[in-house]
Amino acid sequence: MAMMSGKQLQLLGATCGAYSVVTEREATGDRSVTLDMDEKSVLAQKMDLGSIARRGGVTDDRSVRQWFSIFNPYNIFDSSMIHIPIVYPKSTGNELRLYMQGSIDFLGNAGDVFVIFCRESEQFPRVGFIRAADWDTFWGNLNYVSEVNSTIYIQDIDDNQYQQSLLATQAGIPVQQSYTAYPRNSGLAKQAIEMSGFTCEVDPRHHTFRSPVTGQNFMEAHHLIPMSHQASFPYDSLDRLGNIVSLCPCCHKAIHLGDSSVRKELLWTLFNKKAHALQQLGVNFETLCSLYGVSS
Ligand SMILES: [Zn+2]
Ligand SMILES: [Zn+2]
Repeated sequence: MAMMSGKQLQLLGATCGAYSVVTEREATGDRSVTLDMDEKSVLAQKMDLGSIARRGGVTDDRSVRQWFSIFNPYNIFDSSMIHIPIVYPKSTGNELRLYMQGSIDFLGNAGDVFVIFCRESEQFPRVGFIRAADWDTFWGNLNYVSEVNSTIYIQDIDDNQYQQSLLATQAGIPVQQSYTAYPRNSGLAKQAIEMSGFTCEVDPRHHTFRSPVTGQNFMEAHHLIPMSHQASFPYDSLDRLGNIVSLCPCCHKAIHLGDSSVRKELLWTLFNKKAHALQQLGVNFETLCSLYGVSS
């Protein structure tokens, strides 16, 4: 009945997916799900639809069962495999049915939502049912987990040290090259902040406090493409002026810890300021968002 949205696919880590409501006839009649066009297109990503057995008076000795992975919305880590009967029930035509069986935990009731999706890393398509009343809660919970994970994941453990080295450099104190995971040059950070005129590149009206070191509006330096992604850019250093933005501490915290809509808004403003430099690194807005775990 519907293909999954980009957001739903992202939350499930799926490449394609579809869903439809189980009808009374499907649930009580021969207890099967008749796959619609969308669902067949999803299935076809992992299964040769021509390999599925045909019935309806046709002589076809092939097994009616195919392997699937279970989609269990009540335990998303459940990755059991199930062998589900699937056939073209008629001698001609494209009607395709998947048969429910309580014995293999593949059982839906009328009004439940049948879900099918594929993940790149998985061999079999995932199928399962979710009660209609649980639909919104399921996506809400998944979204919450994704928000929490992406803010934690984007944390930069070296950031405090970086800001400290920046202060030392601003004060003219020699900074020792530190043995952090992703070495960065605090001289470039100092330059980036000076180039911004000691303003926040999100909005120059963001006033902070007078830095005792520079005597100017206090600012922090942030790598727009996070240094933790350096390995994906083998030919270019991410520690370059075009990738360093001057941010007030509040915007800096928000770009690391804000919810995805806040981060996306900040990224959009900063992307437009640094578009040229990011283009040189082959990074468009979609890519930038994905580096922050935000869907664009
Ligand atoms: Zn930062
Ligand atoms: Zn700011």
